[in-house]
Amino acid sequence: MSVVGVDFGTLHSKIGVARNRGIDIIVNEVSNRATPSLVAFGPKQRSIGESAKTQETSNFKNTIGGLKRLIGRTLQDPDVEVEKKFLNATLVDDGGTVGVEVTYRGEKQIFSATQLVAMYFGKLRDITANELKTAVSDLVIAVPGWYTDIQRRAMIDAAQIAGLNALRLINDTTAVALGYGITKLDLPDPENPRHVMFVDVGHSSMSVSVVAFSKGQLAVKAAAYDRHLGGRDIDYALIQYFAAEFNAKYRIDVLSNPKATFRLLVGCEKLKKVLSANNEAPLNLNRETYEELISGVLDRIAVPLQQALAESGLTIDDIDTVELVGGTTRIPAVRTRIQAALGGKFLSTTLNQEEAIARGATFAAAFQSPTFRVREFHVHDINQYPIKVCWERATSDPDDDTELVVFPRGNSIPSTKILTFYRKEPFEIDAEYVEPAGLPGGINPKIAGFTAKAVPPSPNGDLTCIKLKTRLNLHGIMSFENAYTEEVEEREEAMEVDGEAPKKKRHVKKHEIPFSTRTSSLDPSVVEKLKELEAEMHAADKLVMDTEDRKNALEEYVYDMRAKLDERYSSFAQAAEKEKLNGMFQEAEDWLYSDEGEDATKSAYVTKLDALKAVGDSIVARYREADERPKAMAQLRAAL
Ligand code: ATP
Ligand code: MG
Repeated sequence: MSVVGVDFGTLHSKIGVARNRGIDIIVNEVSNRATPSLVAFGPKQRSIGESAKTQETSNFKNTIGGLKRLIGRTLQDPDVEVEKKFLNATLVDDGGTVGVEVTYRGEKQIFSATQLVAMYFGKLRDITANELKTAVSDLVIAVPGWYTDIQRRAMIDAAQIAGLNALRLINDTTAVALGYGITKLDLPDPENPRHVMFVDVGHSSMSVSVVAFSKGQLAVKAAAYDRHLGGRDIDYALIQYFAAEFNAKYRIDVLSNPKATFRLLVGCEKLKKVLSANNEAPLNLNRETYEELISGVLDRIAVPLQQALAESGLTIDDIDTVELVGGTTRIPAVRTRIQAALGGKFLSTTLNQEEAIARGATFAAAFQSPTFRVREFHVHDINQYPIKVCWERATSDPDDDTELVVFPRGNSIPSTKILTFYRKEPFEIDAEYVEPAGLPGGINPKIAGFTAKAVPPSPNGDLTCIKLKTRLNLHGIMSFENAYTEEVEEREEAMEVDGEAPKKKRHVKKHEIPFSTRTSSLDPSVVEKLKELEAEMHAADKLVMDTEDRKNALEEYVYDMRAKLDERYSSFAQAAEKEKLNGMFQEAEDWLYSDEGEDATKSAYVTKLDALKAVGDSIVARYREADERPKAMAQLRAAL
């Protein structure tokens, strides 16, 4: 069984696998360690990852990025409005969630964000399977700590649609902390833990967490975020600046032309990276002006840092180390601001800034694997948004509560809580986030619903005492597990001991109550349908690629064989044979460049190539035989 961990980034994703004695970040089909988080649609096929990046400029309307920002959202979400700034594709409503409208195989089609993520996960699955030479099914996926129940459930759905089983969704900075802690052999005792602050500034978002490490474990103390602070906001500021310059100088409105804007973006991202290493850069921008331009972004950096620290109840002096990850922490001005917000604290970059999340996620996967042995290390993560359950009053007593906070902010993950209700009739319970205003964008605060379908009467005709089991699982997803009544029996122990009366022992018998639940997860039948659809599209893509491959093979054979027929094979073919074959080559070539041959089926290319080979192979065989005969003779002589 393979052990796989994925850092699903806004810009790029990285895949870690556990093998031999450690964790490797694997490379994709073009040997890159990071794969663009892009899905694109073309006239014949989808392009995902690197191939989507390659065709982005020519097909930007049908190329979709920011996948992790869209999943689990509605079209009306204010955060989705922000995404439009960074997207060229057309966003639409797809049955209550956000989707895209693209032109795919010549038709307008709509795909939900969940489907897009599934397509992308399918690509990561193929990259991994290709590297490991084995099928991949289980994996751990790193997600932003600010993800809510809806987003987490949508990620699990997406994994399922791609035929994958998410063992765990782990929060980004918790994954980093795990990768950090598991390699440290000198961690202190739990009474006196080592506190580390992790800061991740990526392409779209910033995360900060304060983590306590001690022997064999880590505990997240606090976490804070800015969902809209990352490298792309800096790119955006640069674009606005240059667009205004072009407008003033040349009266060209770059921003009115999406293609020109896209090219400018590519230039700005390059410029930004140059300015991380140098004070000056081409495109006439020095670092001073640059830092002024991006001050709007820089000014917000202090907020999550101070928030996380305050919430952890620690002071900066209690923090042993501040570890930076994420591409945007490479910008000197970003580091300066982080340092300033933390009272001049030294910033450490001992972790691999690009790969720390994927490594940590892979360690988390290794814990769940029966085949891969890792040192015991416990991860205690915490709940970000408080969750309450609500119900309708069952009595006329106005003092009776109608809600209860079950999992407060900071509650550990995973966690199970058993709630008690007194009822006579079937009843409903809802779970929702306590503070809708604190949730990302316009995310629906409703999480789950529970309906007890039948309540057994109590023996004395009173209200029946019902236990309801709720759970916040390893993914950070809340669910209603089951409901039951308890019947306490006092039974006598069978044996009489030393003449004393037999002891009575309490036995609790549980009676399950029939129930149903509602969550934002897709119905299993829908997942099954989308999974089939995804498999069909995957097979179609593969057929297009195989067809292209066979077409190339035919083309190559024609040119290669025609050249060799004049050279090395010349004396091994009769004139008539040559003439026949050359005629066939000409015919094949003409066909390849005709409308029909340009776009034929895989079997058409295969049939043509087979026909050529049927004639050509005997010539090649004669040549080989002649080539090998002297060698064989020499060997024979040597053996005699
Ligand atoms: P997120 O974590 O927000 O989902 P991500 O994981 O895809 O996004 P990272 O890979 O951590 O993001 O970082 C990518 C960002 O870092 C991009 O905006 C990229 O331009 C920027 N970046 C990378 N290297 C440098 C550099 N040397 N100087 C400045 N910016 C850089
Ligand atoms: Mg990231």
